[in-house]
Amino acid sequence: MQRIYISVCFIGILVWSGCDPKGQPDAATGDKLRVVATIGMITDIVKNVGGPRVEVTGIVEPGVDPHFYNPTPKDVQKLGSAHIIFYNGLHLEAKMVDILAKMSVDTLTVAVTDAVDRSLLLKPREYEGLYDPHLWFDVKLWMQAVGKVRDALSEFDADNTVLYRSNAERYLTKLMELDEYVKSRVERVPSQQRVLVTAHDCFNYFGKAYGFEVRGLQGVSTATEVGIADVRELATFIAERGISAIFVESSVSSRSLEAVKAAVKSKGFDLKIGGVLFTDAMGNEGTPEGTYIGMIRHNIDTIVHALIGESEL
Ligand SMILES: [Zn+2]
Repeated sequence: MQRIYISVCFIGILVWSGCDPKGQPDAATGDKLRVVATIGMITDIVKNVGGPRVEVTGIVEPGVDPHFYNPTPKDVQKLGSAHIIFYNGLHLEAKMVDILAKMSVDTLTVAVTDAVDRSLLLKPREYEGLYDPHLWFDVKLWMQAVGKVRDALSEFDADNTVLYRSNAERYLTKLMELDEYVKSRVERVPSQQRVLVTAHDCFNYFGKAYGFEVRGLQGVSTATEVGIADVRELATFIAERGISAIFVESSVSSRSLEAVKAAVKSKGFDLKIGGVLFTDAMGNEGTPEGTYIGMIRHNIDTIVHALIGESEL
C-alpha cells in the first residue's frame, strides 16, 4: 500500500512539473498541437489526420505489448504536456487506466473506440464484463476510430477543421482500399483452410469481418496464464483440423507456440510457424510495417502465403 502511495505521489509531482497551460497552441507563431497516443495504430491515425499541424508522440514502442504496459516517468511527462491524449480504451491499456483518468482532469483525453456502436463490439466469454479491444483488425471498424480522432482535433482546434476533414477523407479512402485488399487476399484461401491460430485471441474482429475461424492460445488479454491443458487442447484442435501453419506475434513471446508445435508433432503431424504477425504493436518506424496500412497488408500477405503456399503475392 505504501509503495502504491509513493508511486502515485511521484506521478503527481511529474504531472505537475511537466504541465504546460492547456490552451490552444498559437498557429501564428508556428506552435503545433501536441498530441500523445498510446499505441502505434492510433499514433498513425493522428499523423495522417493531423498532418504538419500536429506533433504526435507515441507511448508504447514497436514490439511492446500494450496489455501489460506500465507508463514510465518519461511517459507521464509526455502525457502531462499534451494538448490531447488519444488511447484505445476497452481496457487495452489496462495498466494505464489510473494515469489516463488523472490526466483527463485537465487534458482532453479521448478513447478512439468511444464512438463505435456497442452492438458492433465483441464480448468474449472469458473477458467477463469487457469488450474485446482489438478493433483495428476490422479495417471498417477502425475507420470509426479515424472519425473520432478527426472530430476531436476539429473540436479542439476549430480553425483547422477543414484541414483535418480533408486529411481524414484522404486517409479513409486509403483504408477503404485496404479493406478491399484484405477481402481479395482472403478469397484466395479455400474456406475450409480459413483458420488462424495465434498466441493470443486478438483476431476475433478480423475473423468476423473476413470470414476466418480464429484461435488463440491465450485469451483476449496476454495477462492470461497459459497452462499445459491449453497447449494440449490447441494441439488436438490443430491436428484434428489438419491446420498447416500457426503464427507468432511480434509483441508476444513465441515460446508457448513452440510448445504447441512440439505437441502437434508428437501426434505425428507436421506444423510450421507461418511467420510473424504484427498484432498489438506495429513494426519499426521507417519500415512498411511501421504504418497501420503496412501492418495489415503484411499480416494478410503472411497468412495467405503460409496457408496456401502462394509464392506470388
Ligand atoms: Zn491483445
